Amino acid sequence: MRETDARSYSSRPVLTINLSAIIENYKSLSALAAPAKVAASLKADAYGLGIVQIGRTLYGAGCRTFFVAHAGEGKILRGAIGNQPNIYVLSGPSPQDTALFFGSTLKPVINSLTQARDWLKSIDGVKRPPRTALHFDTGMNRLGIPNSETEVFVKEDGLLDALNIDLVMSHLACASMPDHPLNKQQLNTFKRTAAQMPMVNLSLANTGGVYLGKPYHFKLVRPGIGLFGGSATNQPKKENVRPVVEIHAPVLQIKNIKKGETLGYDALFTAKTDMKIAIVSAGYADGLPISLSGTDKAIITHARIGKENAPVVGRISMDYTILDITNVKKYVERGEKAVFLGQNLDAQAAEAQTINYEILTHLGQRCKRVYIRDGNGK
Ligand SMILES: *Cc1c(COP(=O)(O)O)cnc(C)c1O
Repeated sequence: MRETDARSYSSRPVLTINLSAIIENYKSLSALAAPAKVAASLKADAYGLGIVQIGRTLYGAGCRTFFVAHAGEGKILRGAIGNQPNIYVLSGPSPQDTALFFGSTLKPVINSLTQARDWLKSIDGVKRPPRTALHFDTGMNRLGIPNSETEVFVKEDGLLDALNIDLVMSHLACASMPDHPLNKQQLNTFKRTAAQMPMVNLSLANTGGVYLGKPYHFKLVRPGIGLFGGSATNQPKKENVRPVVEIHAPVLQIKNIKKGETLGYDALFTAKTDMKIAIVSAGYADGLPISLSGTDKAIITHARIGKENAPVVGRISMDYTILDITNVKKYVERGEKAVFLGQNLDAQAAEAQTINYEILTHLGQRCKRVYIRDGNGK
């Protein structure tokens, strides 16, 4: 075994987040949705990528409306992007959070009659409370005003006036499947409901909904995953998204293994021939799903080293992953970077039997996060 002195490197894995790619994705979605505007769904710390940096980047690219899940997320975003843009809170008002709504001018998304009444109680006597959005459940049966309550919103004297709504929205359950009949059904229900509402902006589409075409766009679309380099439908070739996120795991050690030896915890992989392996510094604590582990039964995935693929062998552990570099032609030395995700995000999500959304939101906090832009590397 030969191990030369590598160039200087740190053992800490690096998570690169390409802000230029996010801007490009924002622009492609904007072009597709025009004249509808693109709002950004930045819940869960902007899908794990950092709500402050991502919020500022998208604001800089022209985005003026944002959606988060909780008022606390909205407060952080407000601090990052200033007072001008709209920030809607999808979960709606909750008794312990009302002060955050007023303090950071967050617009609650009202999901039920109870939420509407709670909100109205809380704004009693408040000067210029934030405007609100109404979210109608058109068939997803998650959050949203159920059919049975719609009539109250339509008919109760003064209710809509008091809520001072500026957006009516709904959410698609099956936008990832363009041919699913629920899409049209929800579209029709949404139109019927919206027709009974005051003339305000309408919004139905997440990323997948943008790809469903014009009838789904209305005034505002609300993509998340498509901004962050993930495909949103079962027709990824039509989507034209640029990868955003890569995990760079430095090689810490290289070993020659004899046929018959086993690798890693629980000896899940047995060398069928003599082989050369690289131990790289990233594990499940850094966001690599353990379900990507390579066993005697099956090799599930690989990392990229330069332009070559190196299969993941043995169980992925908390801090480290073992790669088979027997057939890698490039001379691999310590400090060399093995790359996960990137253009393989969707594939690796599928291989891990999860979805790209979950991979992104599970990225560890331990990686050194480096926000890059095309051109200057920073
Ligand atoms: C998460 C979310 C979105 C964004 O969905 P993507 O599939 O990531 O584009 C839009 N609207 C609502 C209500 C959401 O919860």
